[in-house]
Amino acid sequence: MRVGRLYRLKRAASWHSSWLISSTMAAVLLTLPGTPTAASAPADHAPDCFVLRCVALTFDDGPTQYTPSILRLLEKHHATATFFVIGPHALQHPTTVLREQRDGDAIGDHTVTHPHLTAVSSARVRFELDRAAHDIASVTGHRPTLLRPPFGAYDSRTRALAGQSGLAVVMWSLDPQDWRHISPGTIDRRLLNHVRAGDIVSLHDRYARTLTALPRILTGLASSGFAFVTVPQMLAASGGTHPGMLYHHGPRT
Ligand SMILES: [Zn+2]
Repeated sequence: MRVGRLYRLKRAASWHSSWLISSTMAAVLLTLPGTPTAASAPADHAPDCFVLRCVALTFDDGPTQYTPSILRLLEKHHATATFFVIGPHALQHPTTVLREQRDGDAIGDHTVTHPHLTAVSSARVRFELDRAAHDIASVTGHRPTLLRPPFGAYDSRTRALAGQSGLAVVMWSLDPQDWRHISPGTIDRRLLNHVRAGDIVSLHDRYARTLTALPRILTGLASSGFAFVTVPQMLAASGGTHPGMLYHHGPRT
C-alpha cells in the first residue's frame, strides 16, 4: 500500500511539477472538477477523487489509548484515514503506528510538543518538525511528507520551513470541533450535516467522545456514498502533495 502510494506520488509529481508553481495555482487545481489529469491517473487501485465522492478523515494528537479502537472501527468499514501523530507518542505506541501503516493509513507529522508554530523561533520550528519526523521514521521506516500544524497555526515562515523539511502543510475544510466539550451526537451531526465531497475533516484520536461518534460517522458517510481516502489519495489526481505547499481539500466532485 505504502509502496503503491509513493510510486503514485512520484508519478503525480513528475506530471505536474512544471506547472504547479504556486500555492495559488494549486488552490485553483484543487477546485477544478474533472480536469484532464483524471483520465491519465495511474492504473493502480487508488480511488479517483475526480470521480468518486471522497472524504479524508484526519486524526490529530495520537496515538493514544483510544487509537486502537478507532483503527478497529476503520478496519471494520474498510476505511483509510490520515493520522497526524506527535513524535514522542509514536515512540510510546509503536505497534499502533505500525498498525496504521499496515492498514494503509497515511501518517503525518504533528510536532514534538504541539506548540503554536507561528509563536516560536525558526530553530524551534525546525526542531519540532524534524525531531517528530525522525521519531515517526524510526517506527515506520518512512519519513513523513505531511504536516498538520498544531492548532492549525501557520504562516509563510511555517510553510517555508515545512518545505525545507520535506513537508506539505495539510489543513482541513471541515471541523466538527470535537476538541470542544460537546456531545458525541453533536460531533457526528455537525460532520454529517456539512460534509461535502473533497472534504478533509479535522478530528482527534485523543477524546473518548470522538471514538463514540465514529461508528455513526462511518456508517453515515458510507450510506451517503462517500469513499474514505487518505490525504495523499485525495490529492493524487490533482498533482499530489509537495513540500511547502498548502492543502485544505480535494476535488469537489
Ligand atoms: Zn493537535
